[in-house]
Amino acid sequence: MEKNQDYKKINKLSGRVVDQIAAGEVIERPSQLLKELIENSLDAHSTEIEVSVSSGLDLLSVTDNGTGIQESDLPLVFERHSTSKILEAGDLFELNSFGFRGEALSAIGAVSKAQLETKHKDDPEGCIYVYENGEEKFIEPSTSNSEGTKITITNLFDSTPARKKFLKSKRHELTLIKRTFQSFSLLHYDKSFKFLVDGKLVFYFQKTDSVFKRYSQVFKNQKVFKVDLPICDIIKEGSAVYLEEPSIDSKTGLSLWTYVQERWIQDKTVAAAIREGLNTYLMHGCFPKGLVDLKIKKDFIDVNVHPMKSEIRYENSAYIYKTIRKAVSDWAYQAPWKNEVIAPKPHSNWSVPVQNKRPDFETVKLAIDNQDDQYKFTTELSDQRVMYKKTYGDLKSDTIKKVLKKDDQFEPYWSSLMVLGQVNLTYIMAQSEEALYYIDQHAAHERVAFERIKKQWSDSEKKDIQSLLMPLTMDLDPQYIEALMSVKEELDGLGVELELSGPETLAINTIPGFLKEESIETSLRKLSEEIVTKGGGTSLDEVFELFFATLACHSVIRAGHAMSEDEMRLLLIEMDRYNSRYCPHGRPVYKKTLFSELDRDFGRTL
Ligand code: ADP
Ligand code: MG
Repeated sequence: MEKNQDYKKINKLSGRVVDQIAAGEVIERPSQLLKELIENSLDAHSTEIEVSVSSGLDLLSVTDNGTGIQESDLPLVFERHSTSKILEAGDLFELNSFGFRGEALSAIGAVSKAQLETKHKDDPEGCIYVYENGEEKFIEPSTSNSEGTKITITNLFDSTPARKKFLKSKRHELTLIKRTFQSFSLLHYDKSFKFLVDGKLVFYFQKTDSVFKRYSQVFKNQKVFKVDLPICDIIKEGSAVYLEEPSIDSKTGLSLWTYVQERWIQDKTVAAAIREGLNTYLMHGCFPKGLVDLKIKKDFIDVNVHPMKSEIRYENSAYIYKTIRKAVSDWAYQAPWKNEVIAPKPHSNWSVPVQNKRPDFETVKLAIDNQDDQYKFTTELSDQRVMYKKTYGDLKSDTIKKVLKKDDQFEPYWSSLMVLGQVNLTYIMAQSEEALYYIDQHAAHERVAFERIKKQWSDSEKKDIQSLLMPLTMDLDPQYIEALMSVKEELDGLGVELELSGPETLAINTIPGFLKEESIETSLRKLSEEIVTKGGGTSLDEVFELFFATLACHSVIRAGHAMSEDEMRLLLIEMDRYNSRYCPHGRPVYKKTLFSELDRDFGRTL
């Protein structure tokens, strides 16, 4: 074959082809189109935004009450690199808008039919401007007089069938559109958002005054709690994490909505920090639900992100990771959701005399009286105006002495439940005013033991550390050795002294008293694996938890053990002392059924 036959002249691509290629980068799918349109509406200071789509995805429109576009500017709107948001490069560093590249509308105009209906306050009347596949079609006056913009996109990707083919199923695309819509609604709680599918109103979030209220609008009354973040050189005022009570029904990471500088992003650092912070409160394989609103000082973040990029890079992500993890872990320890969950109220018509010796419900005010070294466990029982007091004298046993200490103070929560009995030698059944509880006796006790040992260790001044007569040695791959040596200091603090005794051998010289010699190796192996998979950054707290978790499991009441009523009550008291919703392996400690659910199941309510 002759070379000349194959030779092709160099051409400059026409603007239209360039736009079509660019369109592929900016808008790969309808949800990204929506993102660009809502961002434009927000940049135009809109306070009311309405999104409308057809389920066949052949139409998508966004209506806003923003500034509108002046008629004289319209011919530029769909031109590449035309923007009203920056004038010169310096402006990039002072950016307050979502858009600035002037690329979105030109890209959209290149692959669809776009109709803009807009009215700017300085124009006597609004106009309609139609643009299709890279060409202006017509411009005409509109009858609408309200300020703002409505942009309607049809025939999306018709001119680029290859792209259209790559779209996943319509249902999936619609889900992505919905998530995009939610992502904006969640953060911009002071603006109203409507979402219509085939003309039917699917969501309407009215303006509110807090993230909490908006969250509950978007996720059907779900409640979030605020986790304060320390404000510092890197994290700016106004940053916060909002989390739901850890639950077992979130099996994907999709329910954590992360925003940095108000941009919705996917961020592994933040997600990992929150999961680690929740650690034992979150069941294995479950994910946190909530919202992260980070505002990072601009020196630590790259603002000039590509519009399509949903990941962000900041300097010092290790610091951000640590700060968030610590804040979340402190928050979880306080378990602020707990007071919201039950807190039994005085109840007048409680009429379930389960056991003869306790005929009425106690609105338990737990009092522990240790005068004369006699430990008494008093519950107060109220029946509207009458207040009964009942002391369980038979709890003056040795066991209770072990449990109750002088000046012991905690809020009754579990202990305020009425114990109904033990079932299948495995579960404690109890009830509050509004729900039935099944408590896994093994998991609950494990959690209690775990917290107790942890507290004893951190409270004791002189730690119980055993020197081993013969150092224990273990063989490990160099990467695991390196991982363990990276937390040498943390391990020292825990009484585990390590030493390198060969390229693939570690020697253990001391171990903490609470840990059995035979379990140290397993614990260290697990730990090294965790560090390697996570890629470093394990805190003292996490090492603690890992060690204690292996340990606690072996020293507690197992399933199959018959428990006396006193034992059950004591366990509930202990659960109050030590925050106990999940066992250290992340299994739930209890399950509850609301009476309202039972009523519904039995057809008592609709
Ligand atoms: P960018 O947002 O990067 O400036 P776009 O292509 O998204 O680029 O939009 C181009 C310009 O069109 C914007 O700078 C803005 O002036 C105008 N515009 C687009 N959408 C709207 C809107 N909904 N309301 C007011 N002006 C808009
Ligand atoms: Mg834009």
